[in-house]
Amino acid sequence: MIVQKFGGTSVADIEKIKRVAQRVTQTYEQGNDVVVVISALGDTTDRLIKLAKEICDRPPEREMDMLLSTGEQMSVALLSMAIHSLGYQAISFTGAQVGIVTDSTHTKAKIIDIKVARILEELSKGRIVIVAGFQGVSLDDHITTLGRGGSDTTAVALAASLGAEVCEIYTDVEGVFTADPRLVPEARKIDRITYDEMLEMAATGAKVMQLRSVEFGRNYGVVIHVRSNFSDNEGTWITDSEERMEKAIIRGVTHDVTEAKITLMGVPDRPGIAAYLFRCLADANINVDMIIQNVGENNQADISFTISRDDLDKVKSIMEKVVEELGARGFDCDEEIAKISLIGAGMKTHPGVAADMFSALAEHNINIEMISTSSIKISCVIKASEVQKAVQAVHRKFGLDKGVVMHG
Ligand code: ASP
Ligand code: MG
Repeated sequence: MIVQKFGGTSVADIEKIKRVAQRVTQTYEQGNDVVVVISALGDTTDRLIKLAKEICDRPPEREMDMLLSTGEQMSVALLSMAIHSLGYQAISFTGAQVGIVTDSTHTKAKIIDIKVARILEELSKGRIVIVAGFQGVSLDDHITTLGRGGSDTTAVALAASLGAEVCEIYTDVEGVFTADPRLVPEARKIDRITYDEMLEMAATGAKVMQLRSVEFGRNYGVVIHVRSNFSDNEGTWITDSEERMEKAIIRGVTHDVTEAKITLMGVPDRPGIAAYLFRCLADANINVDMIIQNVGENNQADISFTISRDDLDKVKSIMEKVVEELGARGFDCDEEIAKISLIGAGMKTHPGVAADMFSALAEHNINIEMISTSSIKISCVIKASEVQKAVQAVHRKFGLDKGVVMHG
């Protein structure tokens, strides 16, 4: 059994939908059971969001899900028709119909269960099953969506529940790259990568796959193959088996320009302050990324943190309240930031990687505003205007451009 997922660019118009139908039926002809997950056509989701915003600034999230789920419903029906017209049997389903059960966090719901009986029954009749990505149904029967890029998660979760051999993620690039080729033309395709490295890549801005889908893949051991919709070339395999991989120190460099930095200034330096601030943000479902606290004069501290710019309005109103409650001096927002990250499992056992990264930035006169690390990642916040220069410099410093793999 194979699960194949096609993104919005792969089904952007009728010709492309027909091409997807051909690939799917070929896979079926090779003797596989095929479950297909697709996204909304082209930029449909963006257009639907725009429509909603024209009606009100903050549309009710339940109704947002009702609206956005229609994008995928449209594409599954069209793909099913395309497969029928090639002489094969296919049947399309919404997330709710195939029993993709989620919690009730509208617009970023989490899958809690998938009832695969219906899919298995259709497969046993020889049909190709097409499932709408990015959506599910809550326990109390409301339509939910899984967050932007959520079709990846639908696909990987289905592959896990169905015990599929592989989950193929078809996209408009050849796989996962050592850096974004639009910023770094010398970037190369990565042949194999571990779940942990891919998680860090996705979390720090690599746009190929939704973060949650990689988490799912790791937790359930789903073999994921990210590959191009426009060729038959092998793409990037995401698996566990590190021994089959070249043990590179550094796997890639990512960047993210979607965050904003908030600084809360002049708060008293005493226990409970950070707990209070981040509790307020957590209660509003705000994800916080990097955090830095500096204690200055008069026992006063500044706390800086980064959030997604999409949450900026919500965060600003929370900060107004927090400043008042804590008697802080005020807060500041910086939207002109970028985060650049270096990822590689080999850095765990190889000293000097952080120093080399910081030197690469220093050699180009790029100032580092924040730093955070995990055992296989180093991230720096810098000025947004310097992001391309920074990614190129770091990519070159570690020889990723030359295809030189430094072994740990
Ligand atoms: N259509 C949704 C989006 O644009 C889900 C997806 O493409 O995976 O985010
Ligand atoms: Mg996508």
